[in-house]
Amino acid sequence: MAVWDDLVGQERVVEQLTAAARAARATVLAGRGAASSAIEPGGNASLMTHAWLLTGPPGAGQVTAARAFAAALQCTSPDLELGGTPGCGFCDGCHTVMAESHADVKFVRSDGLSIGVGDMRSLVLRASSYPTGGRWSVILIDAAHRLTESAANALLKGVEEPSPRTVWLLCAPSVQDTLPTIRSRCRHLVLRTPSADAVADMLVRRDGVEPGVARIAALAGQGDVERARRLAVDEQARARRLEVLRIPLVVADVGGCLAAAQQLVDTAKTDAEALAETRDAKETGDLKAAYGAAEGLGGKAPRGMAGAVKELEKRQKSRATRTRRESLGVALLDLLGFYRDVLAIQLGAPGSLANEDQRTALGKVAAGGPPEGTLRRIEAVLACRRALDRNVDPLLAVEAMTLALRAG
Ligand SMILES: [Zn+2]
Repeated sequence: MAVWDDLVGQERVVEQLTAAARAARATVLAGRGAASSAIEPGGNASLMTHAWLLTGPPGAGQVTAARAFAAALQCTSPDLELGGTPGCGFCDGCHTVMAESHADVKFVRSDGLSIGVGDMRSLVLRASSYPTGGRWSVILIDAAHRLTESAANALLKGVEEPSPRTVWLLCAPSVQDTLPTIRSRCRHLVLRTPSADAVADMLVRRDGVEPGVARIAALAGQGDVERARRLAVDEQARARRLEVLRIPLVVADVGGCLAAAQQLVDTAKTDAEALAETRDAKETGDLKAAYGAAEGLGGKAPRGMAGAVKELEKRQKSRATRTRRESLGVALLDLLGFYRDVLAIQLGAPGSLANEDQRTALGKVAAGGPPEGTLRRIEAVLACRRALDRNVDPLLAVEAMTLALRAG
């Protein structure tokens, strides 16, 4: 399976990236660098460049595209000699990049709330070294919008003064989320929201999902490929969604509103705890092991370990906060989709609904009042999302929302 196969409905982006990877290969064969190929005299603008910014709606696949491009840059398939597309998915280069273990491809994940300046400085330093495999040194930043300001300034140095064989791949929701000084030095690619049909197709083809289930999941995913996949294959995700979609039916009185809010917040907390349980202890153990601390010997902890453990715990805590926020964010998107469907029914708009499987509940809510009331509820969900972004106490924000969802 080629590395591009996980991208859905992004033909234009794939075309540009494969063309760039071909140009990059020519550059390697000619013994040059991206920076020099970028100023090649005459003819077309160069296809390859040293810094890319990939943006698009949530779940459209920015990181998937960036990872596939990184693989294509490291692809060693013999078919390339015969004009094959870089990113075969089978060669050692593709394979190790996709497994995130390639020596020349560094993945920078924002697990916590932001990427700090220290991380960024060491990356910029690393980027200046020549790739061990002789091809490209790739640095993929999965959430460039979560860089702290000082980290972004450190990144700017790397992007401003590129080493000849370094490629920066930055992913962000939108171009406005990155510093103008950085984005002006990147080539910008925009991923679009894939159609539900394209997503359903992929779920059937790649994950072997039954077509009926795939279609419902693709619609409910509202363009987010990863969310659609989870709905298609994960029983718990499906159950969660149904719980959330019950909210519009139970917010008849204040008691129902408060209970629904409490449940949403509790569920988000459970999600964060479940993730912490599987990850935190192992990470802390690994860190201690890296410091050579043998368990059960009771001796003094190695020098520097306490500080490192404290730093790790700080990151884990901010990751838990983020998980909780993301889990609530998913619930709010489901609710938003529900009320948009209600509005579509009230206005008699043609086309598929996001929640085709919920026609009865949607019809009931749609018959319960005028479209103006639905618009007001949509605004309440959006207001809750803004409040959460501003770090308002989650329970307060969600209670304000569910109270505003009441009829009348
Ligand atoms: Zn390959």
